[in-house]
Formats: sequence, structure tokens, C-alpha cells
Amino acid sequence: MAAQQGFNPFDMARSQFDKIAELLDLEPGTRALLRTPRREYHFTIPVRMDDGTVKVFQGFRVQHNDARGPGKGGIRFHPQETIDTVRALSMWMTWKTAVVNIPLGGAKGGVICDPHDLSQREQEAICRGFMRQIAADVGPLLDVPAPDVMTNAQHMLWMLDEYEVLSHGRYPGLITGKPVGLGGSLGRAQATGYGVVYTLREALKQLGLEPEKTRAAVQGFGNVAQYAIELYNQLGGTVVCVSSWNQQEQAAFTLKKTGGVNLEELRGITDRYGGIDQAKAKDLGYEVLPGEAWIEQEAEILIPAALENQINGESVKTISSAVKVVAEGANGPTTPEADAALQERGVFTIPDFLANAGGVTCSYFEQVQCNTNYFWEMDEVLSKLDVKMTAAFNDVAELAQRKKLYMRDAAYVIAIDRVAQACQQRGWV
Ligand code: NAD
Repeated sequence: MAAQQGFNPFDMARSQFDKIAELLDLEPGTRALLRTPRREYHFTIPVRMDDGTVKVFQGFRVQHNDARGPGKGGIRFHPQETIDTVRALSMWMTWKTAVVNIPLGGAKGGVICDPHDLSQREQEAICRGFMRQIAADVGPLLDVPAPDVMTNAQHMLWMLDEYEVLSHGRYPGLITGKPVGLGGSLGRAQATGYGVVYTLREALKQLGLEPEKTRAAVQGFGNVAQYAIELYNQLGGTVVCVSSWNQQEQAAFTLKKTGGVNLEELRGITDRYGGIDQAKAKDLGYEVLPGEAWIEQEAEILIPAALENQINGESVKTISSAVKVVAEGANGPTTPEADAALQERGVFTIPDFLANAGGVTCSYFEQVQCNTNYFWEMDEVLSKLDVKMTAAFNDVAELAQRKKLYMRDAAYVIAIDRVAQACQQRGWV
């Protein structure tokens, strides 16, 4: 999400779209509609800080497309958030909800801020200020926000509470990722990481690889990475390294352990932002390597689960020849330049908006449960999630094989075609 020098995620999202628009031979009007968000909101959020001063934060909400249903997408808190990042992410949400075939569109939000430096009270004020600015333009039938990087169930509940005060009623379908017991769904925490591994499991089957004989290198150790590792370990796989961000030093690092990293041990020394205590990891016998080392490890599987632009023209050259699969937990981790190199090397890529769609699928289940006011057991949520993710993976893999397409292109063809058809059937284009 960080605005990285020279990298513009919206340019990347558009170039991915343009390629498929060409392949699908979309009408110029449909292309013009789909390559630009339908609506975007920019607003300020003044907050009285704990020291008595007022600080003004910048907030965004972008609604890319809602032809297939209300907008859906998270709200990110990040110091380097940019409007183009939010635009790109909103577009990717449109393709994500379409590829897993749930009746929702694509949207995304963000606030430029660093929660590491904010008290709980200040974060609550940002959440309530955000909702006051956008309340008229979101809603259960309009646009449904959710958590994203550095936001969690507590932030969602503050936003929901503010909305309900303004709207004079209870509207649990406004927002997803709520705490369990207050409209949240069991399994939401697991959903994205597990979803990555449901699709990975299917990819390994297709490639004739046994999970117990594979190794994975993981970038990130937040929500997505931790649950992906949990399920991958249950399948018998070994995680050779994870990487994380050192907030004090403002630098990434990689942790490696012979025989594989131990998830529970690392969870015990990790903060709620997914930052691992480097010194404690050393004491536990981990080797500390530079941030970029995760990508160079000898492993059959790479799981980028941190940020955009991590597998790029340069870093792709350092990937080990052992790598057979890239399962994209993060949004936009691979640039088009690196994609071409992976394709040439015959690496099987499970594209982000398919691999990490478990989160939004579970959010959709959360809405369904809120609407019926009846909440499912964990097993039911996870088994329904597995069904949806596996079906979406199989649709994409089948098209990829039949038309000899790269997996990312096949996923885009399915998603963009569904959205384009919805726009056409509504008479928009
Ligand atoms: P998170 O904030 O819980 O974790 C992010 C992790 O990345 C942390 O461990 C952090 O230390 C690490 N990190 C940050 N910068 C890094 C760097 N330069 N090098 C290595 N590690 C770094 O976030 P998350 O919810 O796990 O999301 C991760 C990615 O997955 C994001 O791209 C997000 O958009 C995407 N995603 C998340 C969900 C979800 O449900 N949480 C759903 C779909 C997609």
C-alpha cells in the first residue's frame, strides 16, 4: 500500500484491465466505464489529539463499480496511503467479487495516518470522523466497508456505531469484519489466509505436487500470512521463512529457521500489526536476514502476503529455480513486468483477486447472516468458504487450460466479462 517510488498501483490495475479489454474485444464505452471508478470521495477528518492540538487527516472512499451489487471493500489506515492506491484497490475489488461470483461490486477506502502513533481514543475519533463524512454515501444497499491493513473489528464497530447514531436504527449490514457477537461472522479472521491455501491446495493437485513435500516462503506475518501458514502447516507443508516490518528501524527483515518456522512460537512475539520482535526471534534461534531475502529462498511456493510491488522486474530475477507456484495473499504484489517473467518460467500463479478472495467471501457470508439474524457455526462458514473458493479456482483453471491463458489473464477474463455483462444488461453501456 505504501506509495513506493515510481510505482503507481492504479496504472498497474489499468494496464492489467486494458490487456483483457483487448482480449475480450470490449466496446470503447464499456472500456471507458470500467477503467475509471464511478464515484470517489475525498474528505478531511479533523481530530482533537490527546495533547489538545487539532490534526487534520485525509480520508478517501472510492466506488469503482456496483453493477453486480453494492460496493464492497476495506478501509486502510496507512501513512503512505494515496488516492491512486485506493482507486486500484477498488478496481481489484470489483474483479474479486466477480471472480468468486458473489452479488457485490468493488469499492475501497483509506485514511492517511499511522495507527502505531495514535492512541485508541484518537483512532476512534478518526473512525467516527470518517463515517460522519461518508455516511450518506455508504450503506447496506449502497457500499459496504470492511477492515484492511491496520484496521480491525474494533475500528469497524466504532464506524458502525457512528452510522447507527446518524441513521437512528440498527444496520449491521453496513459494515463487515465486526466482532463476533456483535454481528461478526465466525471464521472472518481465518478467511483470507485459509482461502489462499484452499486455492493453493487445488493448484498443487493440478501440478501433481504433494503438500507435505513442499516448502513455502512467506512475506508478511499479519492476518493473511498467519492463517495461510496455519492451514498450509495442517496440510503438511513447511514454511522456510517469513518476513515482517520493523517499525522502529523502518525496515523489513526476514526470519529463517532450519526445519521451518514455528507459527505459534512466532505468534507469541508478534504485535497486532504483524510486527515480529526481532530480538526475541533471535533468542528463539531464528536467523535474521534482510527484508528482500524471503523471495530468494529455495522453496516450491512463494506467498507474498504484505504489500504491492514486491515481485517486480528486479526482484523476480532473484527467485529460486525451485519455485513452482506463487499464491498471492497480498493485493497487487506482482508487477506486469514480473508477471511476464514468471509466465515465461512456467511458474503457476494464483492471482491476488482470486487467491485472497476468501476475506470478501466471508464478509458476504457475514452480511447474509446479519440479514437473516441467524449466525452459523465455524465449520459451516469454513466449509461454505472452501466450496466457493474451490469452485472459483476450478473455473479459472479450466478456462486457463482450455484457452491456454496465464492464470491471471483467465481470472481477469471471467471477472471482467461478468462485470461488463452486468453493465450492458443494466443498459449502462
Ligand atoms: P496486516 O497489517 O495484518 O499484516 C501486514 C504484514 O506485512 C505485517 O506482518 C507487516 O509487518 C508486514 N509488512 C509490512 N511491510 C512489509 C515489508 N516491506 N516487508 C515485509 N513485510 C512487511 O495486513 P493483512 O490484513 O495481513 O494484509 C496483507 C495483504 O493482504 C495486503 O495487501 C491486503 O490488502 C491483502 N488482503 C488482506 C485481506 C484481509 O482480509 N486481511 C483480504 C484481502 C487482501
